[in-house]
Amino acid sequence: MVPFGEVPEVALKVIAAHVLGYFNLDAGILPRLKSPAYAFDVNRHQYNAATILKDLGSMPSHDYVKVIGLLDVDLFVPILTHVFGEAKLGGKCAVISLHRLKTDSDGSKASESLILERAAKVALHELGHLFDLVHCMDRRCLMHFSGGLQELDETPLYFCRYCSKSLEDKLHRHGIDV
Ligand SMILES: [Zn+2]
Ligand SMILES: [Zn+2]
Repeated sequence: MVPFGEVPEVALKVIAAHVLGYFNLDAGILPRLKSPAYAFDVNRHQYNAATILKDLGSMPSHDYVKVIGLLDVDLFVPILTHVFGEAKLGGKCAVISLHRLKTDSDGSKASESLILERAAKVALHELGHLFDLVHCMDRRCLMHFSGGLQELDETPLYFCRYCSKSLEDKLHRHGIDV
């Protein structure tokens, strides 16, 4: 994992624990980077997720199989108003942001435990994409697409049977036993 800017240590630890629990992968924490000013879009006042992904991809990632950048800024992709995270199917790198996870749909501040649970869901979802999992139609599955916080909160913290099996197969192909 690569922390950007001021992202809290506890979020990195919680995500790392979930990555170990669900993917049986040890998540190391790489040196902290500055907030990615280069990806700021002056028209949208948001940060371009694709630009940050490209930058992460060009960084040395040692022996890590996958790299997740954790940010605290508002991310977008051109076709959407915002994204909680972004990853290319089967790619090496993903980015996720805590920015939109901090508020509730009514605008009030979310509790720390809720923010961390959401961050874990987004991280596991994006990591699923990195291991070739596509979006799942089952609303009771981590690979279901969440466009908003309400959907994200309704998404459980587990993969459906189909996605679990598929993930297990993909991980085996990477030599990882779950
Ligand atoms: Zn997705
Ligand atoms: Zn599923």
